[in-house]
Amino acid sequence: KKLSSGEIRQMFLDFFKSKGHSVEPSASLIPVDDPTLLWINSGVATLKKYFDGTVIPKNPRITNAQKSIRTNDIENVGKTARHLTFFEMLGNFSVGDYFKKEVIPWAWEFLTSDKWLGLDKDKLYVTVYPKDKDAKELWEKTGVPASHIYEVEDNFWDIGEGPSGPDTEIFYDRGQSFNNLPEDDPESYPGGENERYEEIWNIVFSQYNHLPDGRYVDQPHKNIDTGMGLERLVSVIQGTKTNFETDLFLPIIKATEKLSAGKTYGNGGRDDVAFKIIADHARTVTFAIGDGALPSNEGRGYVLRRLIRRAAVNGRRLGIKDAFLYKLVPVVGDIMESYYPEINRNKAFIQKVIRSEEDRFAETLDAGLSLLNQTIADLKANNETVVPGATAFKLFDTFGFPVELTKEIAEDQGIDVDMKGYEKNMEAQRTRARAARGDAQSMGSQDKTLMAIKTPSKFTGWTDLQDDAKLTD
Ligand code: ATP
Ligand code: MG
Ligand code: MG
Ligand code: MG
Repeated sequence: KKLSSGEIRQMFLDFFKSKGHSVEPSASLIPVDDPTLLWINSGVATLKKYFDGTVIPKNPRITNAQKSIRTNDIENVGKTARHLTFFEMLGNFSVGDYFKKEVIPWAWEFLTSDKWLGLDKDKLYVTVYPKDKDAKELWEKTGVPASHIYEVEDNFWDIGEGPSGPDTEIFYDRGQSFNNLPEDDPESYPGGENERYEEIWNIVFSQYNHLPDGRYVDQPHKNIDTGMGLERLVSVIQGTKTNFETDLFLPIIKATEKLSAGKTYGNGGRDDVAFKIIADHARTVTFAIGDGALPSNEGRGYVLRRLIRRAAVNGRRLGIKDAFLYKLVPVVGDIMESYYPEINRNKAFIQKVIRSEEDRFAETLDAGLSLLNQTIADLKANNETVVPGATAFKLFDTFGFPVELTKEIAEDQGIDVDMKGYEKNMEAQRTRARAARGDAQSMGSQDKTLMAIKTPSKFTGWTDLQDDAKLTD
């Protein structure tokens, strides 16, 4: 019998409980007192208070399953087998307590022991930082043959000043049949950009302090911070082609099939990508709104708006005419019921927010799509291949199409977008907006309400979205 995602999450927490860890609940996706982050993007992000010494934990050993959002992976969703915008990160943490010689054998025990996951050792590979001889030695001592250990220069976690150190990553070999590259391609190794070796677990050895003058000095208290994507692990254990055929996603895809105009998942074409994007974005917006975020024109709200609009366009591709994303909320709620009962508890509210955003975009979506499709048809008739920047800008400014969305739709038809021209239009609009604000100031207007009215209520942030995964990537 295959383990369910709920059982796998629980096993991870139980394993680390058996190693003396305290289990912390998943924190909100919305960072508290942390202006450097748009969203919680990893398990360690919510535990910073322990690592920077602001709070002393009761137990220096902590484990959690943490909801995470990464917008830097939006474009990978549906294209790679493993990237999601919302995922759960399973982690174990040592706040100045255990270090390499404990964590390496533990990770191996959890993954390979028959008492726990019992994964096939031959399919597992690890990467280490070339200068980190300790890690390599420990992996060998734990039973990983040298032929399964790769030295990779990237394996160093550094955010500039502050704690830093080498890391080690664990990969699962899904087999050459899943690869997008030939076996002998130089990128076809654990740690390279390929679809064969899937990174499942990242273990950071925080052992140095990176000083302002550039030197790395030993930290008095060394820390461990690890992260393993639950969805990737479940996909490995349930033996699926991508993360999307696991029990975490398949019911959402099945529900979407029913809402579609007779489309089915699994034919390998562009429709499959649409199903995946919808399933991913349904989870992200459900959890984000559940944690208190709302669609808007800036920051987090922009991210939600962009995700809902991208899902809506992909719904149209599957022949779905009306608002539909909100109907997937209870499906997500049921899948996640055991660990996140709050989703079903709040589903009426979450659905209402998503539905009203879908209805709002529906007013411009069809007109925008028909402008874009007409543009593409005209280009093709004239043997041209590039959507003019002014059109991309109009789609953005008047119809609320993020330029990435325009690009994605055009590229599906072999058409490019003149991004430089788009940026020029964008810049011209910013200049106009600045001038308008300047006028308002020179008129001596201090009235906040008036200023708010004068500030154009346009989409100005799609292209300025922060890379909110800086801290871990
Ligand atoms: P990748 O190289 O595959 O993009 P990463 O090195 O960026 O992953 P980390 O920052 O090391 O990822 O995060 C720790 C773990 O969290 C990863 O090993 C992976 O299992 C999981 N993870 C990271 N990003 C995603 C994502 N976008 N979707 C699903 N799981 C993810
Ligand atoms: Mg990586
Ligand atoms: Mg990594
Ligand atoms: Mg990444």
